[in-house]
Amino acid sequence: MTCPICSRTSDPKYRPFCSRRCADVDLARWLNASYAIPGPEAEAESLPDDDENPRPPPRQ
Ligand SMILES: [Zn+2]
Repeated sequence: MTCPICSRTSDPKYRPFCSRRCADVDLARWLNASYAIPGPEAEAESLPDDDENPRPPPRQ
C-alpha cells in the first residue's frame, strides 16, 4: 500500500499514510471539507476553539 498523500510506502504506524505529517494533511483536508470554509480568511473566525477542543461537526 502507498500513501494517498505523497505515494510513498506507507508506515504501519500511520497507515495508510507514510508519516504523521501526511496523516495531518489528510485530517486537515477532511476538516476543511466538513466545515465547508468558503475562504482561508474565515478559518480563524469560524473556529475559535478548534485548537483546544477538536471535535467532529454536529449532526444535522
Ligand atoms: Zn505520505
